[in-house]
Amino acid sequence: GSRWSLKGMTALVTGGTRGIGHAVVEELADFGATVYTCSRNEDELNKCLEEWQDQGFTVYGSVCDVSSRPQRQKLIEDVASKLNGKLNILVNNVGTNIRKPTVDYNAEDYTKLMNTNLDSAYHLCQLAYSLLKASGNGSVVFISSVAGLSNIGSGTIYAAGKAAINQLTKCLACEWAKDNIRSNCVAPWYTKTSLVEHLLEDKEFVNDILAQTPIKRIAEAHEVSSLVAFLCLPAASYINGQVVAVDGGMTVNAFQ
Ligand code: NDP
Repeated sequence: GSRWSLKGMTALVTGGTRGIGHAVVEELADFGATVYTCSRNEDELNKCLEEWQDQGFTVYGSVCDVSSRPQRQKLIEDVASKLNGKLNILVNNVGTNIRKPTVDYNAEDYTKLMNTNLDSAYHLCQLAYSLLKASGNGSVVFISSVAGLSNIGSGTIYAAGKAAINQLTKCLACEWAKDNIRSNCVAPWYTKTSLVEHLLEDKEFVNDILAQTPIKRIAEAHEVSSLVAFLCLPAASYINGQVVAVDGGMTVNAFQ
């Protein structure tokens, strides 16, 4: 039935060429949504768009660096014209990290991480608001991190930006409910993607992660994207303002 379908709905997923964003694009398209995505690498984006077309998914895309304010404005203009002025779903997925002790960060690190991880999501919400409202049934999903809930030693700029996203989720959930726009957030723990593949090559590091994780393995991207899709479905119509960890039980574990 239609409670478990996204047929006729439109979605914007930032950073859809790799990792969690790539899995989210496929999951939403598989539920019947028309999806728009972006990334910075044009060749990789075009390759993905061709593969999705071959799989029968309706996915559009354009190059956009979401850390740039003018490029975000251009992105939403392109989305509005491609999707006829209506957007049901906004997935703020793009995020990156630079890992250093706090005193070693410079101003450039701070600006880059905050622009990419927080400013992008905040501004895209502002820009997409009228499109989400016009759809009559809107859903915003942020991808934060368990780093925004507890200290996981991933760097303080990343953690502070992700914690801000968690709070933004709660505030928008209340502010935009009157417009029929829900806001929720997915907070993953280590997930096999290009963002962390260099870290996951370190056996000792992985063993430390697994020691804290009741489900003794690292997540796959599709184990995160399934929750993102669920939060967008009509079946989730009363779920609003929640930050849900996808962490194999890590954040509830205080025992090794
Ligand atoms: P990846 O680095 O594997 O993929 C990121 C995607 O976003 C790529 O498609 C990339 O393409 C695109 N992207 C990166 N920067 C920009 C930018 N400035 N503008 C536009 N597109 C961009 O990351 P993950 O899939 O691992 O991460 C996705 C989200 O999940 C992030 O917010 C991350 O913080 C969060 N997360 C990830 C965890 C993990 O263990 N993997 C754990 C917890 C949270 P391109 O580089 O070509 O632009």
